[in-house]
Amino acid sequence: MRRPAFFEAPCLALLLVVLSTGGCTRSEPAQPNLLLIVVDTLRADHLGGYGYPLATSPAIDTLAEQGVLFEQAIAPAPWTRPSAATLLTGLLPETLGLTCASHNLPREGCDVLPAGALTLAERLAAAGYDTAAVVANIQVDSLFGFAQGYDEFASVFPDLTHDMQARADWSSFEWEDTTTRDVTDRARAWLAERGRARSPFFLYLHYLDPHEPYTPPAEHARLFTAADYDSPYPEVRRELPLYDGEIHYVDSAVGRVLDSLAAAGLDDNTIVLLTSDHGEAFGEHGALDRRHGLTLFDDQLHVPLIMRAPGRLKAGVRVTAQVRLVDVLPSLLELMGLESGGMLQGHSLLELARGGADPKLDAVAAWGYRPLSALRTPPWKLIVDHRTGRTSLYNLAADPLEQHDIARGQGALTLLLRDRMQRRLDESRKLREALVATAGEQRDSAPRDNAPLPLSDRQREALRALGYLDNGEQ
Ligand SMILES: [Zn+2]
Repeated sequence: MRRPAFFEAPCLALLLVVLSTGGCTRSEPAQPNLLLIVVDTLRADHLGGYGYPLATSPAIDTLAEQGVLFEQAIAPAPWTRPSAATLLTGLLPETLGLTCASHNLPREGCDVLPAGALTLAERLAAAGYDTAAVVANIQVDSLFGFAQGYDEFASVFPDLTHDMQARADWSSFEWEDTTTRDVTDRARAWLAERGRARSPFFLYLHYLDPHEPYTPPAEHARLFTAADYDSPYPEVRRELPLYDGEIHYVDSAVGRVLDSLAAAGLDDNTIVLLTSDHGEAFGEHGALDRRHGLTLFDDQLHVPLIMRAPGRLKAGVRVTAQVRLVDVLPSLLELMGLESGGMLQGHSLLELARGGADPKLDAVAAWGYRPLSALRTPPWKLIVDHRTGRTSLYNLAADPLEQHDIARGQGALTLLLRDRMQRRLDESRKLREALVATAGEQRDSAPRDNAPLPLSDRQREALRALGYLDNGEQ
């Protein structure tokens, strides 16, 4: 039976090129595909690959064994929007102007990713990639400028009726988070269709779990019990097994997506990068230190970073040096053989991944819901609370849980580090000016007045369900 001419013509043309390498079957894209998986609110130290003693993450651990695991990856902010923006642009929140430290309604100029910022999706679209995203956190929705550069962009928000029930009754294990299932199903269907595509793809999946409310499906919840956890706070002992159950749930979803990638014959030519936007606190610094956004301790800044690139990166590599989410985009561009033009603040990590020396990158974090900033330069971690003026210093080598503030006994070092942190923040402020200037006439990129953007009822409810809009805003 003759095949339609539609399939035949490119095959004949290709034959001239690939005759010596074995004939004309399917045109394998020369460029690697990219699958970026962000698992919201995922502490690195709750994954097996990062030494966690409980079996939360079999699929993610396998992924790590097949690629490179960065042991010390640091987020630039303790909550979603600024951190995800950095991951997706290679620019720090200060540079992007994402500096509103509040839960207010979105305002252009301080809450919204500027149109003038060049996103990973825009870069890849310009390089001929098909680009798609499925996101379950409204913080990375089109509402906040995150749909730039995608051919297809889908937001799947929680089923709010269920969500409200879950908040009222933490023991309602039967509730199933529909977003994790939705992201997975959409991703699998999308990947199944890609086997026939000729251009390379970029697919960005943003899972909302294990963000609160901690409501894993029963089969995942029952794997973890309070007896396995040690905390002085009863509510934390109740929450930790549920948080781990959610990790196990998302891990199984990630495993299913990776299975679909393999089933479509795409895993050999697809770079998979898995990370998170921030961690989560469980009372490590007092009874009130829970959730995320309010402090800059490592429980909120230390995130997993795993990169699998068959034929491009060795398997089973562990990088001990500190790296940052701002380094991810330049690393991917180099790995994909693409131009790293435009403004970038990170450094490619490929040399490190291939055994190179520690470049000793300073990590700066800020922009929580409180005016805080931090400099992490191992072994030192400096945290400044701009509201109280308190400066804290920790020696991460001797005190990885940041329990002993040594700033008083280390006055000179504290001042030195504070100055260094300020210089890093000032660098971003200068770049911010350049970004605004570059954006020029682009209507949405320059800082505007801080008038709230209009929200649909669905967007407003999605924000409220995540604990936003709790400050009296309408
Ligand atoms: Zn988040």
